[in-house]
Amino acid sequence: MNIKTMIAAAAASLLAISGVSAQEPQFVSIGTGGITGVYYPTGGAICRLVNKDRKEHGIRCSVESTGGSIYNINTIKAGELEFGVAQSDWQYHAYNGSSRFEGQQFENLRAVFSVHPEPITILARRDSGIDNITDVIGKRFNIGNDGSGTLATWEVIEEAMGWSRDDLALAAKMKSAETGSALCDNKIDGYFWAVGHPSALTHETIASCDAKIVSAVAPEIDALVAERPYYRKTAIPGGMYPDNPDDVPTFGVGATFVTSADVPEEHVYLVAKAVLGNLEDFRRLHPAFANLKAEEMISDGLSAPLHPGAIRAYQELGLME
Ligand code: GLU
Repeated sequence: MNIKTMIAAAAASLLAISGVSAQEPQFVSIGTGGITGVYYPTGGAICRLVNKDRKEHGIRCSVESTGGSIYNINTIKAGELEFGVAQSDWQYHAYNGSSRFEGQQFENLRAVFSVHPEPITILARRDSGIDNITDVIGKRFNIGNDGSGTLATWEVIEEAMGWSRDDLALAAKMKSAETGSALCDNKIDGYFWAVGHPSALTHETIASCDAKIVSAVAPEIDALVAERPYYRKTAIPGGMYPDNPDDVPTFGVGATFVTSADVPEEHVYLVAKAVLGNLEDFRRLHPAFANLKAEEMISDGLSAPLHPGAIRAYQELGLME
C-alpha cells in the first residue's frame, strides 16, 4: 500500500464507523438582521429544521447576523449568501429595479416563502412628546442602520411626508440591537423600525425604561398605502408588551425569505420542504410565527417568482398544483 491508498483506506473506515455518507458536506448561509430582531431567530428556526435531517441530505445551514434586508438582497446577488430574509417592499423593488434598486435590478432574485408581518414600529420615551410619527420632527430619532430595510423604508416615508433629514434634531443610524439602550440612556427620544411582534428588542426597551409604542398615522401615509401594493394598514396588538395595553395603528410590510435563481434547485427544495413540511414545529420556534398559514406563506408578499426548488417542495407537499 502506498501512502495515498493508506489514507484513503483509513478515511473510508472512519466514514464507515461514523456512519457519515461519503458525499461532500455542503453549506448554505442565511442572512438575517440584528440579534434582538426577529430575522435572526427566523434564520435560526429555518436552519434548525434543515440541520435536523443533515445526515440524510448532507447540507449544513448556518445563520449570519447582518445589517438587514438591503444587505441580504445585495449579498445574495453577489453570490456570497444563498438565502436571506428581506422586507416585501424591498423584494418588490429589487426584482423590479425600482426605487433604490433603479439601475441595479436583481432579475435573478427568487422568492421562497413569506414569514411574519412587519409593522412599522416606533418606540418613544414617554417624556419625549412623541405620540405619533408626525411628532418626530425636531427630535433625536434613530432611523435605521445602513443596509437595513428599516432605513430604506424610512427614506420612502421621509419623501412622502416632505421631510428632510435636517428636520430631525438628530438622525441616528445605530444598529437595531443598540437602540434600546440608547433610548433608555436618553441619547435618543425614539427609534423606528420594521419588525415582527413580539420582538426581543421591543420587549427589552419597554422592560428597561418608560417607553411606549406610538402610532404611524397620517394622510400622507394613507396615500402611500393606497398607491403601493406591498404596504398594508395594520395595528400592533395591545397587551403584547407590559404597560402597552392598546392596539397601535400603523402600516406595514411582510418579512419574506428569498434566494437567487443561481442557488441549486436541490438546496432550495430541501430548505423549503424543511419549513413548510414541518410548519407546526416552525410555528413553535418563535411567537411571531404563531399565525402563519401555509397557503399564505407560499403566495403573500412574494413579488419575485418562486424558485423552482420551492415549487417542487410545495407540489410534493400538496400545497400547489
Ligand atoms: N425589517 C428589518 C430590516 O430589514 C429587520 C427586522 C428584524 O431584524 O427582525 O431592516
